[in-house]
Amino acid sequence: MAEIKFYNGQKIPLELHKARIVQKLHLVPIERRLEALYEGGFNTFRLNTSDVFLDMLTDSGTNAMSDNQLAAMMQADDAYAGSQSFIRLQKAVEDVLGKKYYLPVHQGRAAENIISNVYVKKGNIVPMNYHFTTAMAHITQYGGSMAELLYDEAYVVDSSHPFKGNMHIEKLEELIQQQPGNIPFIRMEASTNLIGGQPFSLQNLRDVRAIADKYKIKLVLDASLIGENAYLILKREPEFKSSSIGEIIKKMTELADLVYFSARKLSSSRGGGICTNNHALYKEMETLVPLFEGFLTYGGISIREIEAMTVGLYETLDETVISQSPSFIEYLVNALHEKGVPVIRPAGVLGAHIDAMQVCAHIPQTQYPAGALAAALFLVSGIRGMERGSISNQRDEQGNETYADMELVRLAVPRRVFTLSQIKYVEDRMTWLYQNRHLIGGLKFVYEPPVLRFFMGGLEPTSDWPQQLMAQFRKDFGDSL
Ligand SMILES: *Cc1c(COP(=O)(O)O)cnc(C)c1O
Repeated sequence: MAEIKFYNGQKIPLELHKARIVQKLHLVPIERRLEALYEGGFNTFRLNTSDVFLDMLTDSGTNAMSDNQLAAMMQADDAYAGSQSFIRLQKAVEDVLGKKYYLPVHQGRAAENIISNVYVKKGNIVPMNYHFTTAMAHITQYGGSMAELLYDEAYVVDSSHPFKGNMHIEKLEELIQQQPGNIPFIRMEASTNLIGGQPFSLQNLRDVRAIADKYKIKLVLDASLIGENAYLILKREPEFKSSSIGEIIKKMTELADLVYFSARKLSSSRGGGICTNNHALYKEMETLVPLFEGFLTYGGISIREIEAMTVGLYETLDETVISQSPSFIEYLVNALHEKGVPVIRPAGVLGAHIDAMQVCAHIPQTQYPAGALAAALFLVSGIRGMERGSISNQRDEQGNETYADMELVRLAVPRRVFTLSQIKYVEDRMTWLYQNRHLIGGLKFVYEPPVLRFFMGGLEPTSDWPQQLMAQFRKDFGDSL
């Protein structure tokens, strides 16, 4: 697809779709937003959308559906077993992901539960480019642990490296030699979610495959964000500059023994799945689907969503569809960077990631700088981002805090949801907050759940900093919302 150039020379992402159904948003006064923060324990997961203006919490299940997806939902074949809708989905999985055997699950983490249940034994180590929260929770639930093997470049905030999600090949081989028989599979995440949605290259995946073959270890691909990883391979890896998205996706999936995904991202619908061409692997996992999810022809997914997933999978192959989210993210990342806001570069997929370690350099990691920044941004804008730092980490077996490598606030850009002026509002309010960053203070836990604490945990500010930030907002913005 050729780039669409503007006569004025600016690099502006252009919406290649039109809005035909819209949803009213709520931009409530800052005084109400402050109340909402106290009610929600300074945790953006616990805010209600009636108080949220731009919901940039996640790209999971929040993407805009196409007219064709909605139309397909009307033709769904509701049946407990043997639904025609499921047969259409199976074909889409084979056509798009190149895998014959497909197990449906209700969302991405359910696939992680089944894979970990079958393959992870106590004491096992799973090498991966980087963990995702739910993948980690399931692997540790079954007694395993993880080794994250990225190159140093991955942790450099402002970088020009095109593939910061690449697996460190030498470290991978070293680990396998040190742990003979103790590695159930190698996990590759297409676009490492937690360190800025950074892609890996196809060459890197080939190198991982070669190691997997050499030591006869399975390769599992988390394909939740595969469409955008494929798009960035097309843009950044010279060997594939003339390939189609579909060809790149197939080249990626054919290197993996098992592919799993969240359809809340891939295909802009809901649901998920595990797929493979290896019948023995399929059989090893098959019985767990009716146990945990539902019958094998729906796996806990509503039949209507199965139809939406089918159409959405085919739409992933369309570059005008898949390019939208990365091009809006690139615009936002570059705009913030120009204003001096420290943000992960190069732009990746699923959102812009702000480096709270720099913005809130005055807040120690023990007081959760990323959680504080996410709360402060909501207060001054109504924009709901997500903490991706130490609050999202889990305590070790002794109950000690494990501080995150990076303290990030992720501003997700759901696919085809926001307009350019909304993105400019994000840039504007974040820039103001950056200039007033000295007013942001720390947080402390008042309620800490033992598992996945970031979802429902409750915190409070360590001082009256939210009130002071609000006073500065009123001074600079007058009676503006
Ligand atoms: C979102 C996500 C998951 C989990 O998917 P859910 O559908 O939210 O359970 C797993 N892996 C990656 C890379 C993700 O982005």
